[in-house]
Amino acid sequence: MSQTELRSAIRFHGHLGPWLILGLRAGRYAATKLHGSPFELSAIVTCPKKPPVRCFIDGVQMGSGCTMGKGNIQHRVQNQTCAVRFINHRTREKLCLKVQPGVWTQLHTPARTPVTSIARTIYRLPINTLFVINPESRKPVVSLIR
Ligand SMILES: [Zn+2]
Repeated sequence: MSQTELRSAIRFHGHLGPWLILGLRAGRYAATKLHGSPFELSAIVTCPKKPPVRCFIDGVQMGSGCTMGKGNIQHRVQNQTCAVRFINHRTREKLCLKVQPGVWTQLHTPARTPVTSIARTIYRLPINTLFVINPESRKPVVSLIR
């Protein structure tokens, strides 16, 4: 985790939001776990077609190196979920991260906590409190809002 990484994400995307940071976390986790260069990985993001959830896609690009320009990220529209599947084409290893239902619900609930503050919380929480990974490691719901 670093302030430099956060600043780069904000510069790339334009603002600091929870969905951007969720995507960043998912992408970085996958790049580490699958030991893939940005040319060996590809990603398929399943999420709604509009922001703010769609901001997730930019975070995935930043975190994993799978980009629109290289053509190794795709978006499939689905309204009730936010997930990303990665594959390393060299090793054939796969990884799926799906936003925890409790996180999804909280981010769709009006809150007094500013979104930038929620984003910073998401930036430091353990990955398995944010995502169902692969998708068997379900964890208790964390509280993002006060
Ligand atoms: Zn955004």
